[in-house]
Amino acid sequence: MIIRKVSEVPTISYGKGAQKKVVIGPNEGAPTFVMRVFDVPPGGASNDHSHDFEHEVLILHGEATCKGDGPDQKVEAGTAYFIPANERHQIVNTGKGNLRFVCLVPLRGEDSDQGACFCKLAAPN
Ligand SMILES: [Zn+2]
Repeated sequence: MIIRKVSEVPTISYGKGAQKKVVIGPNEGAPTFVMRVFDVPPGGASNDHSHDFEHEVLILHGEATCKGDGPDQKVEAGTAYFIPANERHQIVNTGKGNLRFVCLVPLRGEDSDQGACFCKLAAPN
């Protein structure tokens, strides 16, 4: 068993204040799933994108708007949501504070360029 504190996991910066921590992944011997924790400052967003793997998201702190092919949807701490493979998605921190969420992907999602999801951050307003 491997036990880690999120605060002790190295941070990967995407610019404009967004950060990722790979809490559990291949370096911990996980063969199938990768657990990432993202922090996004107010006004920050992922790029509007899709890919052939799913996301499972749990909002830990803050408020955000989820955009996709359907109507925009507000999410907040305590909300979980599922993005099926090939569905357009974007998360925008529309709150006043930091947005922190867990995002699970299959290993190939983390390995691919698409897995980054925050590499093309929109400029905060
Ligand atoms: Zn994505």
